[in-house]
Order: sequence, then C-alpha cells, then structure tokens
Amino acid sequence: MTTTANVTGNDRAVVTRQHMLIGGEWVDAVSGETSESINPYSGRAWAQVPVAGAEDVDRAVKQARAALDGVWGQTSALDRGRMIRRLSALIAENAEALAEAETTDNGKLLREMRSQMKSLPDWFDYFAGLADKNEGTTPPDPKPNMFAYTRREPVGVVGAILPWNSPLLLMSMKLAPGLAAGCTFVVKPAEQTPVSTLKFAELVEKAGFPPGVINVITGAGETGRLLAAHPDVDKIAFTGSTETGIKVIKTAADHMARVTMELGGKSPNIVFADADLAAAANGVVAGIFAATGQTCVAGSRLLVQREVHDQLLELVATRARTIKMGDPLDAQTEMGPIAFREQFDKVAGYVDIARREGATVLVGGGRSPDPAHADGLFFQPTILTDVTNDMRIAQEEIFGPVLSVIPFDDEEEAIRIANDTQYGLGAGIWTNNVARSHRVAHRIKAGSVFINTYRMLGFNVPFGGFKRSGLGRENGIEAIRAYTETKSIWVNLSEETRDPFVLG
Ligand code: ADP
Repeated sequence: MTTTANVTGNDRAVVTRQHMLIGGEWVDAVSGETSESINPYSGRAWAQVPVAGAEDVDRAVKQARAALDGVWGQTSALDRGRMIRRLSALIAENAEALAEAETTDNGKLLREMRSQMKSLPDWFDYFAGLADKNEGTTPPDPKPNMFAYTRREPVGVVGAILPWNSPLLLMSMKLAPGLAAGCTFVVKPAEQTPVSTLKFAELVEKAGFPPGVINVITGAGETGRLLAAHPDVDKIAFTGSTETGIKVIKTAADHMARVTMELGGKSPNIVFADADLAAAANGVVAGIFAATGQTCVAGSRLLVQREVHDQLLELVATRARTIKMGDPLDAQTEMGPIAFREQFDKVAGYVDIARREGATVLVGGGRSPDPAHADGLFFQPTILTDVTNDMRIAQEEIFGPVLSVIPFDDEEEAIRIANDTQYGLGAGIWTNNVARSHRVAHRIKAGSVFINTYRMLGFNVPFGGFKRSGLGRENGIEAIRAYTETKSIWVNLSEETRDPFVLG
C-alpha cells in the first residue's frame, strides 16, 4: 500500500513509501529496514519498500497457514471461483495503473505491459472456472469388497518467488491455479520490481479474500531464501534464473517442499531457406529485441540456413538499426532501457566476451550514444556474427538485446545445433514446408515450439522447460494439478477379518 499520494509513471520524481500485506494488514518489516526501487529510465528511486526478514517471513507463512486451516479451507470451490472472478474484474478495471507501476519499475514498454495487464483476467477467469471441476477419480474396485476414490486436495501454503521482467503475469500464472486449487500464498516479488505486486495486493483486499489467503512480502534474495527454507511452506513456485532456481530447489528439498520452476533459456530461432524471409525477420526481431531481450523465451540464437544467411541478416540488421529506443511510457518507443544497472553491466560484459571469442559485432554492441538516452540504461540492439555454438555467447543466457547468428547447412545440422544447449525453453521454426515444420518441432528439446511465429503465451497452453529450463508446467489444466496433492481413500465394504500379515 502506498502512503504518499498515488504516483503515476509520469510523476516519477516522487518516492512512494510502500508496505507489505501480511494477514490482511499493511506492515513494515519488523527490523524497519527498507530498500529502493529505481526507475531505469530516469535512473532515480521512485519507491521505498520494506525488506522482510526471518520474523516477517514467519509471520506471513503463519497467516497463510491460518487462512488455509480456517476460513479459506472451509470455502467451497464454487465460492473460491466466484472470488477469483471478482479479482479478475478488479484487475481489468485497474489494468492501466498496474501497467504504469510495472513500466516504472522495470522499464519495459507501457504498450507491452498494458497488453499483459489486459490479458491477466484471462488467467483468473480460466482457473476460476476450473476450481469446481478439479475432480478426483473412482477407479474400478481394485479388489473384492474394496472401494477406492481419490481427492485432489490443495498442496497447502505456497511461496511464489517472482523475477523482475514480467512480475504480475508470472505471478498470475501461479496465483490463479493455486487459488482455484484452494492453496494460500506468500508472494515475494523481485527486489527490483516490488511495486506492481503491492498494488495488486490492494485489489486482493477489495475482492474480499479472507486475510492471509494472499500475503505479499518484499525483499531480495535472502528474503526469498528464508521463504523457501521455511518448514511450513508446502510448495515453492519460482520463476527466475537457472542458477537461482537450482539454489531454491536445494533449499526446498531440505523440507521436501514441492517445486515448480520456470527458468532460463537460450532458445534457437531456426530459419530455413524456404521460409517467408520478411516474416522470419520480423519474428527474429520479436524474439530478441522485444522487451529489450529481457524475456526467458528470447530467441537469442538465430540459426539460419546458409543460402539465405546474407539476405535474412540484411533484413534483420536494417530493422535493428532503426529500432526506436526511448521512454517506455511513450507509445512510439520500441525498446526501453535495461531494467537495472547490474543487468546492464552483464549484457555489456557478454559483448566483450563475444569480441574476445572472435565474434563480429555487426550491429550495436554498446551503450546508446544518443544524448537523449544519457540518464537511462539504454543498450543498443546488438547482432553478433561469426558465432559458433560452442562460444559462451551461444551457450549462456544474456537476458538482453543480443542476437548470436549461427549458419547451418541442412535440417539435421539445424536440429543438432538447436539441441546443443543445457536449456530447453522455446524454439522458433520458420519454413513453408508443413512436413518439415512438424518434423523439426518434434525433435527439438524445448517446452514450447513456435512455427512461423514467436513469443506466444496463453492461459490454457502449458508452458515450461525441458532440461535446465525448468520443472513442471504452468498454464492449462495441468497447472491446477501442480497445486494439488492426490489423496487415495480406501473403504472396506466387507465385514470379514482379513489375514493381518499379508499386504492387502
Ligand atoms: P534474475 O532473474 O535477475 O536472474 P534471480 O533468478 O536471481 O534473478 O531472481 C529471481 C527471484 O529469486 C527474485 O525474486 C530474487 O529476489 C529471488 N532470489 C534470489 N536469490 C534467491 C535465493 N537464494 N533463494 C530464493 N530466492 C532467491
């Protein structure tokens, strides 16, 4: 909750003081410690948020547990669905304010955040509808005089740990199925982008959720670690880097908390010679320069068939050189700044590595020289050629507007290079040959494959990663299953005494 006047993205000089939502109360951290959220466009702090410590995390988890054991646990699935729909309507009404908060926190285009916020109700409406359809099963009688049935019970208290690139979308992918399944939540947004989640929490109150069903705590990695380590957290739903995800899995494993993990990627965008090259060039730009490349499914490796290499590159390079960088609130802007200083330095560092590894910088390669961009963290759209797939820039996630171009000769080689990575999140295939498009899609080891399109996401289409890109799936019917435990109940229908020394 904000205690100064409500600040819009245009009024960015004002620093708002935010509080966390724990058990229906807006509170500071017990320690009184706070941190600042910096607007990456202006370079100035715009919000001050509490840093939750062990006591705060414990309090939030206790409140979530109390709600689960209390009123929320007693709420029927139909009524849970109704409440989720109310929240959905409030999100739709407040989409603009949420989008502005998100853009001011992370510098992504208002245009994109607006469209994301407008799509959030889809997630809540879809899972609200599933709440009362989350049925168990009645297997045919497994033995004579034995009846068994299963129930899908909520997994319990969920810790949701979010990244900074699309906080509310990635939160909704956890919250909507989890609430529908009957879970309660402690949500921790990323330290760089806490404000939109706190604003969202105001809507949770208005929607009438009982106190403690959704708690929002703020803080950095240590707060996240404390949440994952809390023995009374039943599940951690995490989106972020593979490196941090592995740490979270290890922490959660100590008390056997369930995990779903949506992690990093190094996704290939594969363009065959028979593709519509103008469409493919547009898709390549969408894959790596949209969101300033700060997206887990970024198509950061362009695999292009050698005979159209120069032609495609000409199209992509021409478009990249004319990408309009600027204020992410401006409707004309195509690429905003990088979200925060460390991330900017990481991207710049990778371009240095590329040069040392022998790659050629065809386009961009550094900070924007435009004096109008001096305050913001603007990195040029960058295209690297003479890249081989074994280079670090082709193997490691950069999370910025940096495209590595790798030529291939035939389909077999394209598939081999595409799969030669520790990741498996997304892949794009550009071809006009229908048989090839499916054949290649089946052989790519990735959770989502896009044919003649790129960067698609939908509430009812499973999303997640193969290999080191994740564990489990979000979205679609299987997502609600990930927030339940299956309980089997056996009922003895006979009156006979059985042999106590033999397995039934
Ligand atoms: P990035 O997406 O910038 O690579 P991370 O994956 O490290 O960042 O962070 C994603 C989320 O995980 C953030 O909310 C961050 O605060 C949190 N986090 C960072 N370290 C840990 C940790 N050791 N345990 C739990 N959460 C963490």
